[in-house]
Order: sequence, then structure tokens, then C-alpha cells
Amino acid sequence: MAQINASVYDAEPIPEAAREEIAALLASGDLFRYTAASDAPVSRLEAEFAQFIGARYALAVSSCSGALFLSLKALGVGPGDKVLIPAFTFAAVPSAVVHAEAQPVLVEVGTDFRIDMADFEAKLTPDVKAIIISHMRGQTSDMDAIMALAEARGVPVIEDAAHSLGTTWGGRNIGTIARIGCFSFQSYKLMNGGEGGMMITDDPDIIARAVIMSGAYEHNWKKHPVLHESFARWQNRLPLYNMRMSNLSAAVVRPQIAEVPRRVRDGRANHDHVAGLLNASPWLEVPPPLAPERRAPDSIQFNLLGFSDSETRAFMEASARMGVAVQVFGMSADNARAFWNWKFIGETPDLPKTRAMLMRACDARLPARLTRAECDQIAAVFLAAAEEVKGPVAAYGT
Ligand SMILES: *Cc1c(COP(=O)(O)O)cnc(C)c1O
Repeated sequence: MAQINASVYDAEPIPEAAREEIAALLASGDLFRYTAASDAPVSRLEAEFAQFIGARYALAVSSCSGALFLSLKALGVGPGDKVLIPAFTFAAVPSAVVHAEAQPVLVEVGTDFRIDMADFEAKLTPDVKAIIISHMRGQTSDMDAIMALAEARGVPVIEDAAHSLGTTWGGRNIGTIARIGCFSFQSYKLMNGGEGGMMITDDPDIIARAVIMSGAYEHNWKKHPVLHESFARWQNRLPLYNMRMSNLSAAVVRPQIAEVPRRVRDGRANHDHVAGLLNASPWLEVPPPLAPERRAPDSIQFNLLGFSDSETRAFMEASARMGVAVQVFGMSADNARAFWNWKFIGETPDLPKTRAMLMRACDARLPARLTRAECDQIAAVFLAAAEEVKGPVAAYGT
């Protein structure tokens, strides 16, 4: 089984269709998005992604972190402003807030990996300037409740859909529900550009500000299909942070849009199959999706039920010994998804619900390209590791 462990981090090959465009780029040397008068690979990626996801405007950038930062800046978030974020997210999210010189306010996340709505409502005070919702590993929080509360208080919401491309909520694409959506093309996400990100919105003023700040200096904004009045208003009034995407990255990412429906379908089937197997154990629990949610996972998260800290460590060790790496977010040293490791944001408040969840929540990669037999082997390892730690299931009368 050792080969399963090695292969879950392997990427899929880049589609053949990328080769021709890359060869042309190498031959011409035309790697900068704003050199060509029109139809640069980055512009084509923006147009095709906007069409695919169902947004009016898209801006390709160097990373999802860059997209989140530009979103905050485009919304006018600045020094000292409060930004609500979930306490369970990747360190890139509080980092983007700090980069915008704002103060992250952490909201509790429950054992279902979703935002605790009572804590969200309590922390949505009048001094909150913006909200970032992280759909962590595709786990979608209650977007209807979040949007209703945010709209009632007039606070803009940014969706961090870095790792959730393909997930839908009430039939709508994740990332299109709030004012702004941000996606990642880092290699572990559904579309692999090595690095890269995308910001989407229907608001011409927000996209105009973000386009300029992403590094559309002088009149390069004229190469974006956005109302030009929106740009003229901001000419020379915004800093240029230079977070542009290169044509080479766009050429790698663009042909993968066509692969997304297959990757989503296969990833969901693998996830739901493994979830069914794990949920049969009294020791393991994969929380169900919320009713409006259709997931697009390339990994699986599950809770260890009734485990102590030492039993949790023993479970991780047993799984690794049997060939499948599993991390427990709060147990592995320096994990970037454990809020107490975000020392750069200053004092973190006590967040007992999120802490308790992170100490028992397991995370394992489950890429769409795995076969059913490989999925069965992975599930068998987790079931066997749980039994090794907690004893045979029958002995407990279940
Ligand atoms: C990967 C990830 C990010 C950061 O994306 P980059 O493109 O690497 O900056 C942000 N949020 C979540 C939830 C992620 O999974």
C-alpha cells in the first residue's frame, strides 16, 4: 500500500492542448499579459473562466492570496478595519487581512467544519468592514444565513473558494454568491497552474480598482473588457501591487477548465464512496453536507469520535504505517490551518469549539484520479487503524 501514500500528491498531466500554446509562447517570447494588443492567454483565461463560473468580470492574478488581498483593497478595507474570518482556514486568509493592514476577527467553526452561526452573528458588530468566508476543502458554511446577516448590516462578503471550485450551493457556483469570489490554481487545487489565482465579481467598480492595483499601469486597463468609465475614475489614484499572472501560467490553466466537470464528478464519487465506508465505523464520522450543498472534494475530512490525544496520535501513526498519510489539523506541529499558529495576527482569543474540532479532525487527500480499488484501500487503512487503537468494533456491542 505504500504506493497509495506516494501517489496522492501526484498531479494529473497538463492537457495536451496546452502544449501548442506554450510552444508558441516560447517561440515568440511573449510572456507578459499586456504586450499583445488583444487575445493574450491571460485575457482569454479571464474571459473563459468568467463564462464558465457565471460572473461578469474575472481578474487573473499570481495567487488566491493575491486575489484576497486585492479584494480587500478594492473594497476599501484599510488600517485597523476589522475583517471577520473563520477560525478554521488556511494561514493565507489571516495573512491577506494583515497584508491589507486590517485586523482579522476569528469566528468559531464547529465539528461539522462549518462556521458557527451564533458566534458569527455575535461577532458581526458595526465596526466590521468586510467578511471573508473560507469554503475550507469545499465544506460550505450556511451561505443563505451568512448573506442574509451580512446584507442586513451592509457588510461586503468575499468568498475564499480557493479549494472549492465546482462546489454548488442551491444550484449556484461557489464563488458567485457573495460580492467577490477568489480561486487558487496552486498545484493542490482542482486546476493546477503551479501558482495562480482568480478574482471574480459582477461589480465594475470593484474589478476596475482590483485590475489597476494588480499592476495594470498606465492604460493597460484598456485591455480589460470592463466599462472604461470605471477605470478613468481611478487612474493614478491607486498603488500598483503587481500581482499579475504570466501568459505561461494562463496557457497551462486554460485547457483545464474543460476538465473541471470530470474532476468534480469523479472526486465527488470517490469522496462519497469513502465517506460511506468510514461512517459505518463507530469511531469515524464524515459530517454530511448541508442541504443546499453539492460538494466537489479532492480530499476527505473526518472526525475521530471518543479518541484521547494519545489515541489520536496512535491513529495517525497506524495509518501512516499502513501506507496512508493522514494529518490531524491541530496535532501536526506548525500546521498552517491551526489558528494558534497564526502568531503574526497577535493575541488570538480562546476558541474552544474550533480548537476541539481541530484536535480530532483528520484530513487525507483523495484526488479525483484515484481508482475505486485505491479508494477502498485508503478507507480500509483508516478503519483498520481505528480498530487497532480502539479495539474490534464487535467488542463494543455496535
Ligand atoms: C490554497 C488556499 C489558499 C491560498 O491559495 P494560494 O493560491 O496558494 O495563495 C487560500 N485559502 C484556502 C482555503 C486554500 O485552500
